[in-house]
Amino acid sequence: METLTSMECLVPTQRKLCELLAEAGVPVEPRWYSLFFYMRSLEYNDALTDDQKCCIHELFREIIEKKNFSDAAFVEISRRQEEIVSTPYRRRLKLALTESAALLSEVKLLYHRRTGEVVNLGDETVKKLQSGAPPEELVSELRESFHQVVEGMNEDVCNLKRLVHTDALTGLVNRRGFDRKLARCCTVPDTLVSLLMLDIDLFKNVNDTYGHPFGDQVLKIVGQLLHEAVQKKCPDWCLAARYGGEEFAVIAPEIQSDDAVELAEAIRRSIAKHRFKIRSVDGNVLKHDFRITVSVGVASLVPQWSDRLAERLVQCADSALYRAKQSGRNRVCVYAAE
Ligand code: GH3
Ligand code: MG
Ligand code: MG
Repeated sequence: METLTSMECLVPTQRKLCELLAEAGVPVEPRWYSLFFYMRSLEYNDALTDDQKCCIHELFREIIEKKNFSDAAFVEISRRQEEIVSTPYRRRLKLALTESAALLSEVKLLYHRRTGEVVNLGDETVKKLQSGAPPEELVSELRESFHQVVEGMNEDVCNLKRLVHTDALTGLVNRRGFDRKLARCCTVPDTLVSLLMLDIDLFKNVNDTYGHPFGDQVLKIVGQLLHEAVQKKCPDWCLAARYGGEEFAVIAPEIQSDDAVELAEAIRRSIAKHRFKIRSVDGNVLKHDFRITVSVGVASLVPQWSDRLAERLVQCADSALYRAKQSGRNRVCVYAAE
């Protein structure tokens, strides 16, 4: 210990940590102290969520309580802290890869289909030229055939664009599509745009208790319920999206803010009363009558805002959502501008 605390390069907080670790019986080994310093530094890392910081804190406490400082314990603890830090990134990466793979296979399919059409068109053209039909007839038929191929290609571009903006798990618009739509809706402050941010309550418990594939099915069904509620209650131009993880959003332009709150309530109620039926991969029902709730934050564009409209709207809806969580979950909170 002496060798570590007396090092001049240690700042007072580090020295304090060394003293605490020594008191807790941590052996004087650089690897353990490095690990603790690293874990401690994660508390100040803005890239980590509160949940991740809380898990790191728990792990820290567990090591001190168990006092197992063996080689095996070191390896296991290093693995666990790495898992806490990297899990959200791995999940996002997996989703991005799934979406990219779906996009690539769609591109491949369309490419083969259109290539076949162009080859057929070539064969047909040769046949027609050889048939000796009058030139006007030939030109008109060829023009029509080329027109159809070009229309098909334009359709492909639209389908691919839609796919780029679709979340692979829920089929809702993904974060990319959400950002694009919100930016388009928020160009002028003095317009009616409301934003609903929804977050599934205590979803981590669902994964922890029943496993990740079960959680995925819940997310899928929540996506369907959200889509249905928005279709039923909103004009066509409203958009339901998966914002990320277990968070969803609805962009509601051209509706009054009271109606947006009513919509949020309707969505919350429809999810709270839904009895989820969850199946295993082979189709057996794993659970009947499973229930979950969501918290919702609602905000509307404020005419006095002059810049960063979309960003501010997200921040306000997010802060209303935070209030909904703080005040007990399974509720709708509305952002009140000062
Ligand atoms: P709160 O009510 O405060 O929102 O609690 P929570 O447990 O829902 O929130 P927390 O942020 O602690 O946990 C969110 C969980 O969502 C953690 C992560 O495992 C899970 N999650 C995020 N994306 C996915 C996904 O694509 N599939 C599954 N199954 N789980 C996911
Ligand atoms: Mg969340
Ligand atoms: Mg949640």
